[in-house]
Amino acid sequence: MWLNQSTVPLPFLLVSDNLEILGVKIFESWPKTRQIAGIELKQKIKSIRDTWRGGRFYDFLLRPHVVNTYLFSNIWHKASSINLLCKDMDKIQSEGNDYIFADCYLRPQKLVNYIDKSAGGLQINHVRSKAMALFIKNLLEESLTNIYLDAVVRKYCLDEDVLPAPVRPFYLDNRLVSSMKTVLGSIQRISTKSIYDVLLKNAFSNNENFQLRIELVYDGFSLNNILAFTRSKLIPTTVRSHMWKIIHKIEYSEIEEAKVKLISPSCNICGEIDIDRIHRYFKCENVFNIGLIFLRVLRVFDPLYSLEEILEFKAKEEHPQLYWFISLTLYYIDKNRKRCTTDLYKAYMWSELETLRMSKYANEDMLLALKIMLELLEE
Ligand SMILES: [Zn+2]
Repeated sequence: MWLNQSTVPLPFLLVSDNLEILGVKIFESWPKTRQIAGIELKQKIKSIRDTWRGGRFYDFLLRPHVVNTYLFSNIWHKASSINLLCKDMDKIQSEGNDYIFADCYLRPQKLVNYIDKSAGGLQINHVRSKAMALFIKNLLEESLTNIYLDAVVRKYCLDEDVLPAPVRPFYLDNRLVSSMKTVLGSIQRISTKSIYDVLLKNAFSNNENFQLRIELVYDGFSLNNILAFTRSKLIPTTVRSHMWKIIHKIEYSEIEEAKVKLISPSCNICGEIDIDRIHRYFKCENVFNIGLIFLRVLRVFDPLYSLEEILEFKAKEEHPQLYWFISLTLYYIDKNRKRCTTDLYKAYMWSELETLRMSKYANEDMLLALKIMLELLEE
């Protein structure tokens, strides 16, 4: 017999084992609710990820946005009302991160994945922190009007004496209490963003003051310089993605390979042993002539520029055109190391200048400056 509105027997649990409220399934027990929500989300994420596997590849620096927008966005609705299991969130996180680093052998320091782009990071959503932030935000907003929840927050999260003591809700586990305490001690107002920032910082607190590993790698590290190479709209995204990998030392070259294998690096082209980046980009027999004209142009701007400085990304702020020139040169050399000639190099740079001319980001001054530089290359 089919059930309809008038014949459905009560209680509902005899015909359905869950209540569905706005797309969130609530089961009789909280563990089951969390478990089922986790399973459903993982399936959803996996099916999207599988359709991408067929070859949806964006430039490296665009991928975090793609993952945040089209992959992780599917879980926030449920995460706002159910505190998901850590193992499920970690699985979802790694689905996203694996897509972003799909063609990378090496990965950067973990923290760099999650911090803001303006701080040099990739700004991938940290699933654990964001899910917790949404859940806490809902709880705190609800507690403003719900006397019971207000008592719960005061009694269990602020350690106040509340009489009579409210029953401790089943979802209020130790992880949630300690996150609530951290959040309540640091935020000025209830917003997902501010709660997320606090939780993210807390999740990486063992990393001394949020210090980036690249700050330690380069002498006289300047975040502004690094951002000029990786965020400037004048430089094509493909090139910026490449620069990001070079700067964070995850571009897999002989040098990185040797580090992984614990041997001393030797040049793939000329066979010289114990090489450094300067050899790879400017001193190897294949690129030697490019290195010479490249340096000659740089020294027109400042006679003290050295190749060492260039590879520590220290172009001066008063020479903004150099960021374009340096990053395109490094990109060209990396992509064409086996068959580099000065003629092809110059042709490549001129064609990139043409491309830039079409872009809405380049102003006349910049285009003129770049044209003069390329003419200097010809001399
Ligand atoms: Zn070589």
